Amino acid sequence: MRKMMLCVFIFLSVMLLTTLCLAKEGTKMIENIKWLGHDTFFIKGQKSVITDPFKIMGDYKADVILITHEHYDHCVPEDVKKVQKKDSIIVTTADCAKKLSGEIKIVKPGDKITVHGIEVEVVPAYNTNKKFHPKDTGWVGFIFKVDGKRIYIAGDTDYIPEMKTFKDVDIALLPVSGTYVMTADEAVKAALDIKPKVAIPMHYGAIVGSEDDAKRFADALKGKVEVIILKQEK
Ligand SMILES: [Zn+2]
Repeated sequence: MRKMMLCVFIFLSVMLLTTLCLAKEGTKMIENIKWLGHDTFFIKGQKSVITDPFKIMGDYKADVILITHEHYDHCVPEDVKKVQKKDSIIVTTADCAKKLSGEIKIVKPGDKITVHGIEVEVVPAYNTNKKFHPKDTGWVGFIFKVDGKRIYIAGDTDYIPEMKTFKDVDIALLPVSGTYVMTADEAVKAALDIKPKVAIPMHYGAIVGSEDDAKRFADALKGKVEVIILKQEK
């Protein structure tokens, strides 16, 4: 009996250690990622990347500025100016490019480019069960690589079949608010298709959605995909 208790104890300890190590790995993987609210992430690597700069308060100058589409909460000229340096390169869609100045690469789904050494794959982003982001606008998400890690920012999208084809995503930044984009439940399906090492919920707390959506997303993925809910930084 005592032997069995010991075995159970050892088994549980090993399980706990494994869980802790895995959790630590995820935390380490995202240590250079700051969430500035909504779809705005600042990723510091050898080169820095910012996504959809919106309501920028602090000093977040970036080498590469990725903008998913021209909506007012994603493509914001005054916020782009705040994060722009002399040699920043903006990667965005044609309709957003019209609002901005500086060095701009116009992209569409399917494109692959490298800017300041950052590889960027351009992927589709569109609605399937609502009309705010029609597929034929050519709006996008990005899979980009910073310091060896592949990061997917989904943009304003529903759960779409193309997600099954995204390969080797380390970190997935997924909308969870519903209304204009996927709900938390739909984002769970997306995460299960994409199989990232870490998923981070976004697109809540600014215009639509709340942290409850992020928590619902995290709870549903427990034991399947590690979810880290980031604290919003200024
Ligand atoms: Zn939008």
